[in-house]
Amino acid sequence: MRLGVHMPLKGGFAANLWRVKEYGCETVQFFAGNPTGWKMAAPRLPEIEKRANLARELSIYPLVIHCAYLINLATPKAEFYQKSVRLLNETMQRAALYGAPYVVMHAGSHGGAGAERGLEQLIEAIWGNLPGWPAGVKLLLENTAGSGSALGATFEELARVLKAFPADALGVCLDTMHGWAAGYDFGSADGVKKCLEQFDRILGLKRLCLLHLNDAKTARGSRLDRHEHIGHGRMGLEGFRELLRQPWPAEMPAILETPEMGSHWDQKNLETLRRLLE
Ligand SMILES: [Zn+2]
Repeated sequence: MRLGVHMPLKGGFAANLWRVKEYGCETVQFFAGNPTGWKMAAPRLPEIEKRANLARELSIYPLVIHCAYLINLATPKAEFYQKSVRLLNETMQRAALYGAPYVVMHAGSHGGAGAERGLEQLIEAIWGNLPGWPAGVKLLLENTAGSGSALGATFEELARVLKAFPADALGVCLDTMHGWAAGYDFGSADGVKKCLEQFDRILGLKRLCLLHLNDAKTARGSRLDRHEHIGHGRMGLEGFRELLRQPWPAEMPAILETPEMGSHWDQKNLETLRRLLE
């Protein structure tokens, strides 16, 4: 397992990469463009090459790209759908330029059309665009907290989508906080064991490519997406200890998305995780 953080790019990619390297990040996630905009600036190839080379030099891998939050392949609104598809395709291409093997996307919201309809549209959208995606970049669906009409809060819903594709085409990013908010007990050792058994039975642990490690400000089952620092929230440390100590593949990334990203908290949270691994 390789531990890392979601890295803000404010102040420059290189400066941030050096900063996180200093406190022992082995992998990073970042936005390839504006996380709250539809438009991605044209790629500046020399700059991207420089960034990718620096990551290689510092042995920070894998690089993980998080999609813009606006992307929703399950939306019933035609215009949003078109924009979402376009931006996802651009993000997949951008990931290839970085040599990033993973792009993380939330499963989306059905916007009142119903979960069944939303999931079907999501599957169709992926099928329709998959052939154009670059080799070596895998789309990962992230589980959600399940607020409103969000899809993918349960392993069953994720499985509906995942099972429609070969294992190497589509994977899962499992967020502990989202799972907790959706009712899964990632807060205790027994709970984590049960969650992983369930995940394995319903989805297959082979499909799990990335962990998002976040504590929760809100109660289990609250369906509210509120991240907290590791050990400072409602989940506590016991579940994280159990989760970290699983026999994960050596190169499996686990990434913090805790509050105040880019501050001293990143280092603190990473140190907490390392202590749990000892
Ligand atoms: Zn997440």
